[in-house]
Amino acid sequence: MMSQAHNQSIAQLPQLQRAPLLALLPDVAERIAAGEVIERPVSVIKELIENALDAGAREIRVEVRGGGLRLMRVADDGYGIPEDELERACLRHTTSKIQSVEDLSRLHTLGFRGEALASIAAVSEVTLLSRAIETDGMGEDHAALSITLRGGEVTQRGRRARLHGTTVTVRDLFYNVPARLKFMRGARTENGHIVQLLQRYALGYPAVRFNLVIDEHVALQTSGAGDLAITLAELYHLLLNEMLYPVNTSGGDHYAIHGYIGNRVLAQSTRHYVMLFINGRGVQSRPLQEALEEGYRGLLPKGKHPLLVLFLAVPPDEVDVNVHPAKTEVRLVREDEIVAALTQAVRAVLEKGPALPEAIQFPGPVLANQRRLPGPRRRGLRVSESSEGYKAETAPPGATEIVNTLRPLAQLQQAVILAEAPDGSLYLVDQHRAHERVIYEHLRRVYAGVQHNEAVDGHLLLEPVIVEMKRYQADLLEQRLPMLRGLGIECERFGGRSFLIRSVPGGEDGEGQEQLVAHLQELAETAAEDSSDWEDHLLISLSCRSAMRRGRELGSGEQLALLKTLANVTAPAVCPHGSPILLHYSRAFLIDKFDW
Ligand code: ADP
Ligand code: MG
Repeated sequence: MMSQAHNQSIAQLPQLQRAPLLALLPDVAERIAAGEVIERPVSVIKELIENALDAGAREIRVEVRGGGLRLMRVADDGYGIPEDELERACLRHTTSKIQSVEDLSRLHTLGFRGEALASIAAVSEVTLLSRAIETDGMGEDHAALSITLRGGEVTQRGRRARLHGTTVTVRDLFYNVPARLKFMRGARTENGHIVQLLQRYALGYPAVRFNLVIDEHVALQTSGAGDLAITLAELYHLLLNEMLYPVNTSGGDHYAIHGYIGNRVLAQSTRHYVMLFINGRGVQSRPLQEALEEGYRGLLPKGKHPLLVLFLAVPPDEVDVNVHPAKTEVRLVREDEIVAALTQAVRAVLEKGPALPEAIQFPGPVLANQRRLPGPRRRGLRVSESSEGYKAETAPPGATEIVNTLRPLAQLQQAVILAEAPDGSLYLVDQHRAHERVIYEHLRRVYAGVQHNEAVDGHLLLEPVIVEMKRYQADLLEQRLPMLRGLGIECERFGGRSFLIRSVPGGEDGEGQEQLVAHLQELAETAAEDSSDWEDHLLISLSCRSAMRRGRELGSGEQLALLKTLANVTAPAVCPHGSPILLHYSRAFLIDKFDW
């Protein structure tokens, strides 16, 4: 779906000009919405990345230790800070980005309040090392200046060799704000926020090379190739090509929209992946997000949100970013018009794209993708389809009868059963999804029994498996142990946050059990999900994990047996995730295509 013509997915990069650093005059300072206080490590990283982007950086390296409390370092290759301005850069309301109130309406930088460095310096030890681009010709011996401030006071000065650009190192965050420290979540939580933040900026600035190292491990890396599709692949390690559709549209001089929108397969259970950048700034605007989701109306199941990255460019004087402390909310002069345009842009693209199975052309893109897709969860991105509403529309009438009469012909790519119907039409049956559906319906029946205190015996594991939960998960899991037991999962608390799993749901299939054992940690986490539909998620995961994989060779007897069991389920046409199990090529299709 992706064409080379859309390689220009580059957010507007700031211009490489730098004005002198000035203290804002009181009247300007007053007009600026109060800046966000530094709440947690990720807020520091956000400000430092924005400064680097404002300085025209092409490469931004971020290092984090101890969840950010011990150390955070952001290094860029931007235009740097001249020596005589280094110290003043840490004063409040000192900025090189605006000078007058009018400048607020022609902003082309992410920062403008001149507060971030000051706020960070007030609650940590900050070392600034910078070499301005103007000094580049001056030889190596002209080392860059570095200053260290603690609690806002300069404690150290030095010189170090450096190419142009800036490195900001923040140590001991909140050392003087114990109250804030107390509310800090664990390092893992903070790291998680930081990774998500970097993902967003990496997508917003595909032409910038990002590198994130957390506790000496590379957590994220992009090539800065300038192509959003490449960045997406680099971040999520998925071949998303056929699941993304390019968007490119504009409304005269008032707005231009470009980027990519994901198809149904990429639907996610959070809004994190609805990414909208307005003039290069990642924004979270309810009306605009809703406008985008409106474009998907009827395509995504309830509770699911699309994955999309869109860039909206508007004239700087038609957007006000000075309304929210974190600048994540903006006010648009032509909001109504843009809301309508976003919905329309998404809808137009989706209508053209082969999102619905009816429109799948041979060889169907869904099929083509699914073979390459890894499990449903990878690197935090859930690739699945779950669609209650979707079932009705795809299950062809009488699917059960049809499946019952199918005669298997062969197996394609060890993944798909080719079968002939009595009327001479061809059916393709995804063996993994078919099996998954069978197991899912079986588990649902078992689970219905659990509510009436019936229980089934699981398959006893020779060696029990220990899973480690987070604290809140451990308590939830403990409450749910009786229900799990009913499903055949013998699990007991093993002190602290550890649990011992002694059995998994039984079945004749040894391969299925092996797969389950390999995924017990993931399954336990699903069973401890803090959501109202954890049961269904668990049943889906169990069936997905124990269903036969693609890549398994099936003899004709096994093919027939699978089709017969599939004929016994209530919804043989869609897998529990909502994806098609059957594709149909009618006789009419053959007659038409072969021109018989
Ligand atoms: P703002 O970004 O709102 O101007 P900051 O406190 O974040 O305020 O930064 C103050 C000033 O320090 C900026 O205006 C800029 O001149 C300079 N500065 C900060 N970080 C960098 C950087 N990475 N590269 C170049 N200049 C920087
Ligand atoms: Mg800034």
